[in-house]
Parts: sequence; structure tokens; C-alpha cells
Amino acid sequence: QAAQSASLRDLPAVTADGVSVSLMINLGLPLELPQLEATGAAGIGLYRTEISLLAQHRPSTATADQAVEDGFLASDKLMGRQTAEYARVLDRAAGRPVLFRTLDLGGDKLLPNASLPESENPAMGWRSLRIGLDRPMILRRQLRAMLAAAQGRPLSIMFPMVATIAEFRAARGLLEAEVARLEHGPEQLQVGTMLEVPALLWQLPQLMKEVDFVSVGSNDLMQFLFAADRGTPNLAGRYDLISPPVLDLFDSVVRHAEAEGVWLSFCGEAAGRPLEALILVALGFHSLSMSPAALPRVKTLLRKADLAGFRKVLSAIRSHNPLAASLRDPLSSWAREH
Ligand code: PEP
Ligand code: MG
Repeated sequence: QAAQSASLRDLPAVTADGVSVSLMINLGLPLELPQLEATGAAGIGLYRTEISLLAQHRPSTATADQAVEDGFLASDKLMGRQTAEYARVLDRAAGRPVLFRTLDLGGDKLLPNASLPESENPAMGWRSLRIGLDRPMILRRQLRAMLAAAQGRPLSIMFPMVATIAEFRAARGLLEAEVARLEHGPEQLQVGTMLEVPALLWQLPQLMKEVDFVSVGSNDLMQFLFAADRGTPNLAGRYDLISPPVLDLFDSVVRHAEAEGVWLSFCGEAAGRPLEALILVALGFHSLSMSPAALPRVKTLLRKADLAGFRKVLSAIRSHNPLAASLRDPLSSWAREH
């Protein structure tokens, strides 16, 4: 088994009919960095910067609001720690791309000892980039840490929970202000956004003109599209990503990204499920980022897949079942048979 995965690690992620796919991993802690070599990933498609904050138990911090107000998130101490952490990540990535996502606190990512709900609907509350834009010193200091960690190396920064072009512009404005303070900025700075708030789906033509990359976050996107909390077990499996409306929507995302030459990735958990991964690649996603444990099985399936053949099947099944709640059964039967 170990020998098998070692050889798989070194094999290219390419379909049987020759389409290359960039398989990356989602990380959030420096101690996970060895997963880069263990999986043979092409890079880190999502580095969740809030994870190390959540992992440090800060007993004084009860809610996101309080953490903001007590000044810790904008402190020199935290900025120093962030700089060291991000530098370690870039060192270990050794030139492979890393998409650093700015703090995505709130929602399901509450700070330790969050005994009080911060709002009735925390997933839709004051969270994530919204905090960073309302308290710009928090975001600016984190961006400063990223720039300092890069030390001139290429850097990719991704903003979470962007709902409007105006929010993206405001966040990028803070980044530009930080870059302007530097004598030597990064050799290459790529700025992009998560696509996880449905409103952004109706702003794609303009969005694609303004970003360097987009990464679809289906964990949040699905919960907001279907009004179905991502953490409620009774709802798990009720709404399927492999369904006509979601696949139509992904088609449109791919089309708009291609029209502007924007690098498009997919970093929601679905990317780590082999059938979903195959479908996403068939729709035109060339980069998938997933939990490290999922990468070997996704790679195994993609390497066996005749993508051109699968595209025909996918399109026939879609056109015969436009109203189905899910297309999972016919697609997984086909995948199993082939
Ligand atoms: C997502 O929402 O799909 C995502 C990748 O981000 P997170 O799970 O950290 O919210
Ligand atoms: Mg998310």
C-alpha cells in the first residue's frame, strides 16, 4: 500500500486521454506541510490562515467581536507570528503555488471558548472579510505579514466571503496600500477571490476583469444556494452538487473565467470526492484543491478516466434529466462500469 501510494505520488495527474489537472491541497497549519511531499501535490490551493488562530487557545477571547475589540487581531505580536508562519509555508512550498486566504473567522469558525452565539445566523453574520473591511488594521496587518513573509517571492492572496465587486476592490485597495509602503514588493502578486457567496455569480463578467484568479468554495456556496446549513447533519445529502442547477452554474463560471483568461480553481470539500472531481474536470476546472487524504483517490480515478468519453455521457445525462434533484446515480453507475 505504502509503495503503491509512493509511486502514485510521483505520477502526473493526467487523464487517460491526456488532460492535465493541477491537484493541490488545502492546509491550515505549518505542521501539515509535510503533506506537500507526501501527496506530491502541485501546491497549496487554499491556506486557511484562521486555523492557527483557532488552534491557539486564547481564553480571554469569547467571540469574534471581542477578539476584534481586544486588539489582538491587529497586534504586532500576531503580525510577527503570522509572518513567521507564512514564511515557513512558502519555504516548504519551494516555488509551488500557495494561495493564502485572509482571515475567515466567524460562521462555523468561531474562536475558542465562544460560549455565546455572536448572532442569530453566524454564517451570515459579521464574519470573514466583512470584519477585515470594517476593521482595516486587522486586514492590513495580516497583508503586511504576507508581504513580509514573501520577501520578494511570488505571492498569491485570496479574499474569502466576497459578495460584491466593491468589497473585492476595497480589499485589494488595502493590499495596494501595503505594497506601496514597501521598497521591494513581491516579484509577482496575484490577487483573487473565493467564489462562495451566490451574489457574486451575477457579477461574473466584471469580476473576471478584475481578479487574477477565482477559487470556488462549494462548502459555503452550497449552503447559501440551497439555504441549507453546512453543519446540520439532517440536511447532509439533501441537496446535491451533482444536480442540474449547480452544474449549469459551474458551466457559467468556467465560461466567464475562460473569456477573461482567469485562472480558475475549486477548493470546496467536493473537489476531494472522486466522482465530483471527475465532473468538475469535465466541466473545465483544471485545478482542484482538496484535503491531503483525498488526493490519492482523486488522482487514481482521473488517471483512469477517458475525459472526452465522460463529457459525452455527462452531457447526455444532463440533457435527459433537466429536472432531476440529483444526477449522482446514473453518473456513478457509468463511472463504476468504466
Ligand atoms: C468553502 O467554503 O468551500 C471553503 C473552501 O472554505 P471554508 O470551508 O474554509 O469555509
Ligand atoms: Mg468558505
